Amino acid sequence: MDTEKIVQRLGITGPIQGVYAGGWQDATGEELTSVNPATGETIATLTMATRDQYDAVTRDAVETFQEWRMLPAPKRGEYVRLIGNALRDVKPELSALVTLESGKILAEGEGEVQEMIDIADFAVGLSRQLYGLTMTSERPRHRMYEQWHPLGPCGIISAFNFPVAVWSWNALIAAVCGDTNIWKPSLRTPLSAVAVTEICHQVMAGSGFEGVFNLAIGTDDEVGSAMVNDTRVPLISATGSCNMGRIVGPAVLKRMGRPLLELGGNNAILVMDDADLDLATRGATFAAVGTAGQRCTSLRRLLVHSDVIDEMTSRLIDVYKQVRIGDPLERQTLMGPLISSNAVDQMMTVLEIAQGQGGEVVYGGNRLDGFPGHFVEPTLVRISKDAPIVQEETFAPILWVIEVDDLSDGIAVQNGVRQGLSSAIFTDSLSNAETFLSHMGSDCGIANVNIGTSGAEIGGAFGGEKETGGGREAGSDSWKSYMRRQTTTINWGGDLPLAQGIEFV
Ligand code: NAD
Repeated sequence: MDTEKIVQRLGITGPIQGVYAGGWQDATGEELTSVNPATGETIATLTMATRDQYDAVTRDAVETFQEWRMLPAPKRGEYVRLIGNALRDVKPELSALVTLESGKILAEGEGEVQEMIDIADFAVGLSRQLYGLTMTSERPRHRMYEQWHPLGPCGIISAFNFPVAVWSWNALIAAVCGDTNIWKPSLRTPLSAVAVTEICHQVMAGSGFEGVFNLAIGTDDEVGSAMVNDTRVPLISATGSCNMGRIVGPAVLKRMGRPLLELGGNNAILVMDDADLDLATRGATFAAVGTAGQRCTSLRRLLVHSDVIDEMTSRLIDVYKQVRIGDPLERQTLMGPLISSNAVDQMMTVLEIAQGQGGEVVYGGNRLDGFPGHFVEPTLVRISKDAPIVQEETFAPILWVIEVDDLSDGIAVQNGVRQGLSSAIFTDSLSNAETFLSHMGSDCGIANVNIGTSGAEIGGAFGGEKETGGGREAGSDSWKSYMRRQTTTINWGGDLPLAQGIEFV
């Protein structure tokens, strides 16, 4: 597909601006280049927001919030329904742009846009719910219940590896909750953010609610820190590395804001001796190689029972040999590039460290210099569970294959890292599976049986524990993060009885 046509079809014309405050603004910050990681070529250049322009965006989001929250939630849902339809119309082009900018293969680009559409549908249904509970009161002729109110403008900080879906998890749910949004995307995928904002602009134009979905593309110093420290923005939803969360989380809390953190993972699959090894091999390969190992839920550690580790390793080597690496826009490609040359260097450094800690590369391990972009081989490393390097999240297709003795050893190793995002067990034993899912099992936000660690559906709440940050987004009752809860007691009698039986004359 022709890049120019993709960009045109998405309505991106003329000088590209990184500022949207109820309408596109003339940005006056630094220039930013969007680069295709598969070729190293420039896709487009745009102008970023200054701190003052961020300020204007947020002023607009605050003003629009006053009106938007007055609109009944099902009517807000109607706008989100239209956004979902608009996304359906441009799914091929938006998916291709995501692939161009992030390097993920086209099937995954399409999956990402489908996820946005699914979230839009979910949010529309939610717009007729947003329900609170009614509790019985201990006092006669009293009614007690809780209700949920819009919170305010939400700041959304997103990572490069999900350039558009993570925005939708936040923005579309927040919108039906009555909130406005300010998006600060990753500087590696700015054009995808411009395209999505333009889609929203076309839907919202003329509605009077153009300031619901805003954009401020800028550096972490100029825009990121201004947003994080801005008391006008009650919620900061930040997706990215644990290092980013360590800065953003405390800064938001310091001003008594609400941080919603979706940070790094160090995900594991535990393969038991009674597992279907064919299923486990397929599940592990997709989870480790998909998005070239650049998903927060990518499989990092394969913990294999000692009785089947040799068999499992040789099956994986056979499958890894068949992984087709290349242009992510080509349908037959299974693995595209890493996001940058830095990411490739980092992978090579980590492999050196691993070998110094007794690791043995049993497949791959090389950069692929024959390609113009940042390509590497998917890599398998046999390594001990005690090697310090396996504690770290390396954002690359390295799979640590680690021997474990039994279920309890496997669970201990799985839980023995600082992160707590996604986990899985492959077993045919009900007892093993239930133990893994019980309170004695996985300590992660996501725990699967006979499914890999990546590729979550939007209907569930997504997020992780420990250094992954504790946030939950997307389905289930994640919408509650975007609203404020109010507990209400109404006295409909003529007396004034006090709670806990207190007499106060
Ligand atoms: P990153 O931490 O480098 O950047 C993420 C975002 O945070 C970017 O928009 C960046 O500009 C912004 N940022 C960084 N420092 C900031 C600061 N001090 N103030 C304000 N904003 C700041 O991450 P990345 O390389 O883009 O993405 C990869 C990481 O994201 C991995 O660790 C991955 O696991 C994680 N991730 C987590 C989830 C999840 O849902 N848990 C989803 C996707 C990615």
